[in-house]
Amino acid sequence: MLLVLTAPGFRVNRRPNGLDESKQLGNVGLLMVTEAKIVDPAAIVTTNPATGEALAELPCATPDEVRASVLGAKAAQLAWQKVSVGERIAVLRKFQQLLNRDRDDVARLISREAGKPAAEALATEILVVLDAAGFCIRNARRFLRERPLPHANLAMKTKRGTLSREPYGVIGIVSPWNYPFSIPAIETLAALVTGNAVVLKPSELTPLVALELQRLLHAAGVPPDLMQVVIGEGPVGAALVDSAIDKLIFTGSVATGKRVAASAAQRLLPVVLELGGKDPMIVLDDADLEVTTSGALWGAFMNAGQTCLSVERCYVHRRQYEPFLAMCREKIARLRVGNGLNSEVEIGPMIHPRQLKIVEDQVNDAMQRGARLLAGGKRLTELGPNFYAPTLLADVTQDMRIMQEETFGPVLPVAPFDNDEDVIRLANDSEFGLAASVWTRDRRRGEAIAARIKAGTVMLNDMVSCFGIAEAPHGGFKHSGIGRTHGELGLGEMVQTKYVDVDRMPGIAKVWWFGYGSQYREQMGGFADLLFAQSWAAKIKGAMRSSGLFRRSGRV
Ligand code: NAD
Repeated sequence: MLLVLTAPGFRVNRRPNGLDESKQLGNVGLLMVTEAKIVDPAAIVTTNPATGEALAELPCATPDEVRASVLGAKAAQLAWQKVSVGERIAVLRKFQQLLNRDRDDVARLISREAGKPAAEALATEILVVLDAAGFCIRNARRFLRERPLPHANLAMKTKRGTLSREPYGVIGIVSPWNYPFSIPAIETLAALVTGNAVVLKPSELTPLVALELQRLLHAAGVPPDLMQVVIGEGPVGAALVDSAIDKLIFTGSVATGKRVAASAAQRLLPVVLELGGKDPMIVLDDADLEVTTSGALWGAFMNAGQTCLSVERCYVHRRQYEPFLAMCREKIARLRVGNGLNSEVEIGPMIHPRQLKIVEDQVNDAMQRGARLLAGGKRLTELGPNFYAPTLLADVTQDMRIMQEETFGPVLPVAPFDNDEDVIRLANDSEFGLAASVWTRDRRRGEAIAARIKAGTVMLNDMVSCFGIAEAPHGGFKHSGIGRTHGELGLGEMVQTKYVDVDRMPGIAKVWWFGYGSQYREQMGGFADLLFAQSWAAKIKGAMRSSGLFRRSGRV
């Protein structure tokens, strides 16, 4: 048995497909159909990565349907822009209430489609979205208020400047599978509260979660055309990039990000790119090992290591190196791996065999080149098709693939270092720069190291949780991306800034207009000295030379 989705507003499913619409299930309006009747080649089947069980078959949007969605969103946005900020905030407040009410159902859906433990989905996706909604609710009014822009230049004192922020129009969002709810939700909330429409292309691996987000938003009062989901694989994302959207927020791999950026450049479409990471964890010689090892394991293995901000490489001071490894090894033995719907489980499956193969190749490569395997390093086929054991590798070296390429799996590769200079160099030796963490009891030393790390975020004595701080901007240096989401900088990506200038003396021609000549040049030189000369004597002289500038005759 498969499920076919027929959520209201789900445009791409309006084609006749001969399905047996026998039974309605759950919040997202799933209909049960028999497998034999599914023949649409332009469809995706979403599965539970823990079991391999097919959850639903969804028709993919055609390029025409993507374009139609964007045009519908454009029309809806014109009306939404006129809705007061207070009313938009009220819709977000309602969304927040509905999500809080339905949080356990949403967490279970995330677990079924993305594999992570439902408890983790609650903590790292739903709570984060509830908080992000709160941030928008608290800050949108202030953020969108017009603000005066005072002028320092004497010549401009007769003018009054104001800055205002206008929505772009339609924001296209292309999102990945690893945080299938929080990533598109946080971006969508920021877009909507600032007056934009959204067309979201979720990952082909987690479309049901995106449709659940759409359902909650519509139920909260977001007009159906204002927030739409288009389903499909890469080509559907490419069609969205090529459509009439006004800005794109893309989250995914560096390789796809480069393709998307190249395509966007053809029509100067503004983009935010949230891409991959290879985040270093730096454990100094004074770190508390009990806490640090627990942090390292959560940072490396939560969501089966499939987190852009996860600990991808770990450098431990040589004095703490062996005790750190021993403690990690002992704690790994206590971790529970299994189906995320079981509330005792801490680590779920990986999303797809493709992802598993990348991890396996990198671990094998490291071991062939001398890394020491202290735990894991193998598939757990007895649990299901996509399980990989939490893996601890020691004695890795900087030139190994596992220290250079994004792994995106439950692996903690550890290397020793001798001093702060060394570890800063190693941490910065990467094409990525998403985040980093420094673990120490000495705050000043930690901050000094943080200041020298090339990354969008550096955390002291924690990692990943920056994503859950609604005020904190999220984004990377180097190949980890362009632009920011979350917080005020995230709101800033959703608006264009307009400067409006009002001349308070409209009846007077300006001194810098035509009517040049030697006297004018002399006066202008004097005026420059009045403003910028270093000594008071020169300033006074300049004031005398410029006298008459504002009353000069002979202008055109
Ligand atoms: P991906 O690049 O394979 O896909 C991301 C999205 O892009 C998917 O929806 C996919 O269908 C779509 N897509 C594919 N080809 C496209 C094209 N030509 N045009 C437009 N869209 C296209 O990434 P993924 O495997 O879904 O996600 C994992 C990656 O995402 C990792 O590299 C991870 O680090 C990164 N990520 C980054 C952040 C961040 O905030 N920096 C957050 C989560 C994940």
